[in-house]
Amino acid sequence: MQEDSNCLFCKIIRRKIPSKVAYEDDSVFAFHDIAPQAPTHILIVPKEHIATLNDLDERYEALVGKMVMAARRLAAEAGISESGYRCVLNCNRGAGQSVFHIHLHLLGGRAMGWPPG
Ligand code: 5GP
Ligand code: ZN
Repeated sequence: MQEDSNCLFCKIIRRKIPSKVAYEDDSVFAFHDIAPQAPTHILIVPKEHIATLNDLDERYEALVGKMVMAARRLAAEAGISESGYRCVLNCNRGAGQSVFHIHLHLLGGRAMGWPPG
């Protein structure tokens, strides 16, 4: 599986940097954000190093589906399925991406405004 030895999230996935793990399977890893923006704030990442959404192609359709399904399950576990939650994928700096390993933010447990900033 492709890895970038300089990537923060590759290091977290391989437990070279500690994190509070929320979920793991063969292809997906999820951990609590170090600076939570909501009572529930979990990052769901592919184990394979993929820098941005722009680097995805049809080979990754199932993987992206697994990330979304992990978010759905983690939301249920966190008890926010009914109150509501938001799933965010920032692509590139203009949209707020700061770590260049794809990550799905699962945010919930408080009311949220729209449009996002
Ligand atoms: P982005 O801004 O790229 O969409 O999201 C990156 C997220 O990674 C941010 O919400 C940030 O708080 C989180 N983050 C950055 N460094 C670490 C870390 O070392 N550990 C954890 N658990 N989260 C991190
Ligand atoms: Zn990476």
